[in-house]
Amino acid sequence: VAAWGERCFGAARGLSDVLLVFVGTGVGSGLILGGRLHEGARGVAGELGHVQARPPGPGYRPRRCGCGATGCLEAYAGGANIAARVREELAAGARSSILELAGGDPSRAGPVEVEMAFTKGDQYAVALWEEVADLLGTAVASAVTLLNPERVVLGGGVLLGSPCLERLVRARVAALASRSALAGLSIERTRLGDDAGVIGAALLPA
Ligand SMILES: [Zn+2]
Repeated sequence: VAAWGERCFGAARGLSDVLLVFVGTGVGSGLILGGRLHEGARGVAGELGHVQARPPGPGYRPRRCGCGATGCLEAYAGGANIAARVREELAAGARSSILELAGGDPSRAGPVEVEMAFTKGDQYAVALWEEVADLLGTAVASAVTLLNPERVVLGGGVLLGSPCLERLVRARVAALASRSALAGLSIERTRLGDDAGVIGAALLPA
């Protein structure tokens, strides 16, 4: 629905093939294909947050997603899950300036503190953002290769509030999507913010 808001007023205005990726509390996405909101056979298309990002294998640390499955992109890259992981790891003794930035209280640490620590070269924060960017960037690059959109619109509080993470994600997409799908692709930030969904809902053709 946010995708339709963007199509009508925002960063996807007038375009016919657009992928929206929002990283906030969770990971959401939307698809405009052929100028229409793509909903899929059962209306659940575009759930990029629930594509499998972490197949079981050596060193696999399963994290359960809000949808009940394990290994979803959102379980590793959604803001709520990033915060939960950082809190667990700080409480378990991980060394990072994030703890100080959170006023010494692990329960107050989240993506904002990770971004701040990253800018100071904090090793824990750098490793975490590299990992999150790998997962987000791989998923977005795969979607770009599969769908060949003309634009990717990035949004959501975590992504827009973390310029370092955003830069890493953009670099992954540029490195991992197919050359042919990257030709002519632009990646832009949303212009509607959290209003995109509301505006889209009001404008959706019945
Ligand atoms: Zn899920």
